Order: sequence, then C-alpha cells, then structure tokens
Amino acid sequence: MDKEDRKIAVIGGGLSGLVIAEGLNKKGYKNVTLFEKNERLGGKLHTIWYKGKSYELGAIFGLPSYSKLKGLMKRLNIKIDGPKLSRTNYNADGQKIMPIPKENLGDFVEELERLPHVLDIYKSLKNASIKNIEPTLMLPFSKWCDINQFEVLKTVYIHYFTIFGLGNIDEVPALYVLRIMNYYHLMSFMQIPEFYTWKNGVSSLIESLSKEIGDIRLGQKVMDITLSSKGTLWIQTKFERLEFHQVIITASLDEFSHLHFWDQDMRQYLNSIKYQSFNVYAFIVNKVPKGCGCILENLSPSRRGHITIWDARWDIYDEGMVIVYAYDPPEDSKLSSLDIIKEDLLRLGVKNPRLYQAKRWKHCPYVDTDTLESGFYDKMENLQGMNNVFLAGEIMSMLSIENCIWYSEDLLERFF
Ligand SMILES: Cc1cc2nc3c(=O)[nH]c(=O)nc-3n(C[C@H](O)[C@H](O)[C@H](O)COP(=O)(O)OP(=O)(O)OC[C@H]3O[C@@H](n4cnc5c(N)ncnc54)[C@H](O)[C@@H]3O)c2cc1C
Repeated sequence: MDKEDRKIAVIGGGLSGLVIAEGLNKKGYKNVTLFEKNERLGGKLHTIWYKGKSYELGAIFGLPSYSKLKGLMKRLNIKIDGPKLSRTNYNADGQKIMPIPKENLGDFVEELERLPHVLDIYKSLKNASIKNIEPTLMLPFSKWCDINQFEVLKTVYIHYFTIFGLGNIDEVPALYVLRIMNYYHLMSFMQIPEFYTWKNGVSSLIESLSKEIGDIRLGQKVMDITLSSKGTLWIQTKFERLEFHQVIITASLDEFSHLHFWDQDMRQYLNSIKYQSFNVYAFIVNKVPKGCGCILENLSPSRRGHITIWDARWDIYDEGMVIVYAYDPPEDSKLSSLDIIKEDLLRLGVKNPRLYQAKRWKHCPYVDTDTLESGFYDKMENLQGMNNVFLAGEIMSMLSIENCIWYSEDLLERFF
C-alpha cells in the first residue's frame, strides 16, 4: 500500500505524538490522525499565562546539549528568546548553602574526569532504542555509583535528578538516570544561564508542530484498539469507532495493558510501569522571590511532600506568580500536600501565597531492576510493528524533551 492510502493513527498529543505525526507528514503520509484525550495539546509541555507572562506547569527548559531539540527548532524556525534562569541552593530555613562542601571539590573534579570513560563502555546508552542493556545499568543508580566509586557525583545527581521529580536514586535504575542525564547533559546542567527557554513557553514547540499536522482530534480519549480479521485496527474513542492500517501509541502504555492482542507477559509488563507523583503549584504572591531556589534538604525520602524547587522565571518583584514543585507527601502524613507547601513558603519568607493553579503529574515512568532483568525492553522492542502497532512516548524514550524527540524520530527512521 502506498503512503497516500495508508491510514495511521497516533495516540497522544504530547511532544512524542506531535513529532511523530509531523514526521509522518514530512515523509509523505497523507492520512495521519492524531488523538488527544484532553482539550489541549502538549501533555507535559504545559505553558500557562498570568498578566501577559508565560509560566510552565510542565517542562521548563531545554539544555544546550540537546542536539535533537536544536534540529527540531531549526526546522520549525523557533528561536530561544525566553528568560535566563538562575539557581540558588537553600536549606529548609531559607539560608543559602553550597551544593558541594569545599572539602569534596577535589574528589568531584576527579570523578567528573573519570565519568565519560566509565560511560563509554555502555553501548545500550548510545542508541535511541533500548537493547542489550548491560546488567550493571539495571541496578538502582546509587548502587551503580557505589560500584564505580562516584561518591560526590551521587549527590550531584540527586541535586539535578531527584529535584526535578525524577525520583529516588536508591530505586530508579541507573539506565534511566544516565539516559536522562548523560555526561553532556550533566555538564550542560552546570551552566544554568545557558538553558533554553522561550518567551511564549515550551508550548511554542507544540504550536509550531501542530501547524504541520492536518487531522488533530482533541478531547477524544482512545479507549480501546481491536484487531480486525483483515489485519486492520479499530480505534474506539468516547464518540466513534474508526479504522486504521497502523497505530502508534505515545500515551502512557500502562493505560493500554488491556488490549486483546497482547499476551499475558505483555500485560504484566505494562502493569509494572511505575511513576513518580510530582506536583506543580502556581501561586500568586505579594512579593515574588528572586530566581530559582532549590531546597536540598528536601530531597531526602523522609522529606517527601516538602518543596524541592521554586521558580520565579521573570524579574518581577511585586505581585506575581511563583511556581513550586514537590513530591506527594507519604501516605500516612497528617498534613495535606497544600498545607505542607504553604508552611514551607511562609518559612522561606513568601507572604500571602494564593493558589492559582495546580497539576499532579504521573511523572518519570520507569520499571524496576527485577522487571528490567526479566527482559522488559527486549519484549517492547520485539513487539514494534507486530499487529501494525508501534510503541513510543516516555517509557520507551526515557523522558526529557531531547529523548522524546530522539526516540520518535528514530522510530520513524526504522519503520516508516
Ligand atoms: C513537571 C515536569 C517538568 C519537566 N521538566 C522538563 C524539563 O525542564 N526539560 C525536559 O527536557 N523535560 C522535562 N520534563 C519531561 C518532558 O516534559 C516529558 O518527558 C515529555 O514532554 C513527554 O512527552 P510525551 O509526548 O512522550 O508524553 P506526554 O507529554 O505525557 O503526552 C502524552 C499525551 O497522551 C495523552 N493521552 C493519554 N492517554 C490517552 C488516550 N487514551 N487517548 C488519547 N490521548 C491520550 C495525554 O493527555 C498527553 O497529552 C518535565 C516533565 C514534568 C512533568
């Protein structure tokens, strides 16, 4: 069947789905339909507006080391024109602190020099699709650090990884940490003012991509996909049933674990995907604090629920918006998430915070060491294209703007 006639459904209107739908269009596929369950596109790229200024409820920035993002922006003619970010580290009482104690700086330099040589042996980190994962990468990241004697780097990774809601390094396997933050991204992370931001927010990427896609269906959750006797696929939304030749799922894959054509192993695998519950609060405050503040004490598992970062992205010092980030508190916590956050804000000297908008994300999907060892990604990659169904999105690409573009473009190269 030629490209003109082949009907392709893309499920999910986040960055991955949009990059795939735009890429298919560019490759000459004329019958591409994108389904998004919400009334807005973008998924975890979610810009909001207050008094004429953009703020982010989801992703905040790109890094200078994001080469795939650079390529996409060039293609779509998007410029980096957003505010310069800054970062100051605090203790829970609002006093400024150094991220690495002076006496550890020598070890830090030595570990940083050693890191690229250690990473070089891991072939599975070099390709977009995840195959032949080396056994040590399946271990929790903190164990991987211990094996490789990266004592200071372990803490530095917590400051850059855990702080953004990506999870506890005693649980998340090294594979995820090192794909999300490879050596080049780690080095980029240390040059904060150079981060990429956009005046109109990360949603600038979404707006430009969506202009290239003909058939977008909003507010249309895909509930089921069934295989017909002719080998075509029926997509069932809340409203209608439509027939396609191929389907690409970029939405959370655990929500599709019930599909009738998966075998028992696949169902179990999809149900084993774990997430971080990460909350983003947009507060209006009388006097906006300056820049971006990271509260390093709150990164320990015992301080879950407390603020990990706050971000005041624009130089406004009177009434305005500040964005605050925190994991869910432990289940036995007597205080609600909002009470904890408000108390923290008051302790940091923020007066009269009023909640404007909040978002609870199912953030950073991952599978644990046992599931990796039992062959999760081999199964996923072997299933690509089977029954004309393809898999992309965060669990396949291992999140971040860069990795989602990388995986999505690679999927198109491999199969379309
Ligand atoms: C708070 C936060 C901060 C972040 N900060 C950064 C950052 O600064 N830099 C960075 O590089 N990355 C960051 N990330 C990660 C990055 O935003 C994501 O990895 C990326 O945007 C994921 O894109 P995606 O399209 O794969 O998934 P998603 O954005 O999750 O998109 C999936 C889409 O599928 C839709 N959907 C779900 N189910 C269905 C269904 N049944 N039918 C139809 N549609 C469905 C959803 O509504 C959603 O729109 C951050 C993420 C969060 C949450």
